Amino acid sequence: MEIDLLVVGGGPAGLSAAITAAELDHSVIIVDENPRLGGQLIKQTHKFFGSESNYCGIRGIDIAEILENKVNKLGITKYLESTVIGIYEDGVAIASEEDLRVVHPKKIIIATGARENMLSFVNNDLPGVYGAGAVQTLVNVYGVLPGKRALMVGSGNIGLIVSYQLMQAGVEVVAILEALDHVGGYEVHAAKVRRLGIPILLRHTIKSAIGNDKVEAAVITKLDEHWQPIPGSERELKVDFICLAVGLSPSYELAAQAGAKIVYIPELGGWLPWHKPNLETSVPGLYVAGDAAGVEEAVSALLEGKIAAADASNSIKENKYAQKLIETTQKELQEFRAGKFGKKIVEGKRKLYASLHL
Ligand SMILES: Cc1cc2nc3c(=O)[nH]c(=O)nc-3n(C[C@H](O)[C@H](O)[C@H](O)COP(=O)(O)OP(=O)(O)OC[C@H]3O[C@@H](n4cnc5c(N)ncnc54)[C@H](O)[C@@H]3O)c2cc1C
Repeated sequence: MEIDLLVVGGGPAGLSAAITAAELDHSVIIVDENPRLGGQLIKQTHKFFGSESNYCGIRGIDIAEILENKVNKLGITKYLESTVIGIYEDGVAIASEEDLRVVHPKKIIIATGARENMLSFVNNDLPGVYGAGAVQTLVNVYGVLPGKRALMVGSGNIGLIVSYQLMQAGVEVVAILEALDHVGGYEVHAAKVRRLGIPILLRHTIKSAIGNDKVEAAVITKLDEHWQPIPGSERELKVDFICLAVGLSPSYELAAQAGAKIVYIPELGGWLPWHKPNLETSVPGLYVAGDAAGVEEAVSALLEGKIAAADASNSIKENKYAQKLIETTQKELQEFRAGKFGKKIVEGKRKLYASLHL
């Protein structure tokens, strides 16, 4: 099948890319491995931050629905419960339970998101040790509680939000541990969990999980200024599950398989496809957007998806509307990153563009 654009991943970046390209009159296919579109958004019951033009104050799950309705209205082809398994010179392979299809897009946008990081500690493979995002999926999408007493490791926005949502669902969050000397996420989220009585223990980490067949307790320890455990500071906490909210890493494998150059930029979450400001990778016509292009937020994912799609459109057929869209969206992205939390990303992207001549 010949089409203009193939979008891999139906989160905010992929949805925004597909909608933008369809609005620019291109034929588009969007593929996602899940039964419904939305990516991370479908499990986010809290109201989002960001700019008014990018769904600020609306719950993630409702943003997913708004975007999905647009996709349907524009007649974009959706392949759900389907996985893009390889990008080759003679086509892109998409596998589902029923079949294996090959499509021939002029341009491809990889918007595969990010995956959760693991942490090294004794017994970290015991049942009951989860990624915080996985716990959010269990609780908010499937209505399943993984336990009654939780320990959260990491006080970034994910750790704070998931702790709050666990308490709302009737789970007792015994503590949130943070290795830094300050809370990682937004103060407004930290204030909310403190009001619920959850202690945020700074300069603390987990040393081990205890249990026979599953988690029954966790040993935590204080850290000194060199990140070393302070002997004698260990404490045992009775918990039946442990959530790790210790960062995400871009899902870059598909881009790597397609031959894109991969670079290591810590500020953007580690290994990721090298890309230009217009989101094109080192493989002409292959773009990356959203968390796969550097772990950030839904607002920047929406904006990056739009830029990548407009650039793809302009390179299929030069058009002034797409060029204008790239210009205004780049400006919006710059403004979004101007705040305190955007500094790290701006520095990461600066390093990325500086590594242009690899
Ligand atoms: C707990 C939590 C709270 C958050 N709160 C906020 C917030 O308040 N405000 C905010 O702006 N951001 C927030 N974020 C961040 C935001 O959700 C992400 O930055 C955003 O979802 C990234 O969008 P994306 O489209 O790049 O990736 P994702 O949303 O992760 O979507 C990627 C999609 O691609 C699919 N996929 C991957 N590989 C393939 C493949 N090979 N074939 C087919 N499909 C594939 C995945 O299954 C997934 O559906 C939060 C994140 C979490 C986890």
